[in-house]
Amino acid sequence: METPRPRLTLAERLYLPQVIAGVGITTRHFLRNLTLHTLHLFGLARDRSAAVTTQYPEQRKTYSEGYRGAHRLTLKPDGSVRCTACFLCATACPAKCINIEAGEHPDPEVEKYPVRYEIDTLQCIYCGMCVEACPCDAIRMDTFVHPHLWGYRREDFIEPKAVLMERSRVLQERGREALMEDMQRAYQEGRDTGPAVAPPRP
Ligand code: SF4
Ligand code: SF4
Repeated sequence: METPRPRLTLAERLYLPQVIAGVGITTRHFLRNLTLHTLHLFGLARDRSAAVTTQYPEQRKTYSEGYRGAHRLTLKPDGSVRCTACFLCATACPAKCINIEAGEHPDPEVEKYPVRYEIDTLQCIYCGMCVEACPCDAIRMDTFVHPHLWGYRREDFIEPKAVLMERSRVLQERGREALMEDMQRAYQEGRDTGPAVAPPRP
């Protein structure tokens, strides 16, 4: 059965009423917040809150302990990658954004390692399934930082193994705050890849 389409007026076809209504709502909120912030400066209307913008990344809110931040690949005591390239994380990933290339490890005691391990952060939905799937605690999301926030090419948002390992190194050596400081510095300097990373090792 065919549903009759409603006939739109000329104003509706031009979207003008909706545009004017939208500008009206924005203006109303702007004037309300401006007035309340001005009154607060003089100690008036303190019981009425006005919108406050958090100037991220310079200002940050406190994240909960369960916050899922940028990934990191954990390290063995000798600084090498813990990952055994078993592909369980890539298989569990619903966004199919983990790409691994496995290789023979030079140490005969270790079967495999990831020659290449990449996460496409534009596809990642930060569900944490990769962390849950890993049988050897080789990947975590406890960095409390966002992944790369800026870039002009798709490749800028693909995090390679070296960056993922470097996060673990910084966390071990300089602590959680250092990760955010490095990210902010890279952002302010307009660097592409965040903190400088050491050459990857097996
Ligand atoms: S957080 Fe989820 S979407 Fe992102 S890499 Fe892990 S499994 Fe994939
Ligand atoms: S991170 Fe864990 S689950 Fe993923 S390939 Fe490495 S060892 Fe396997």
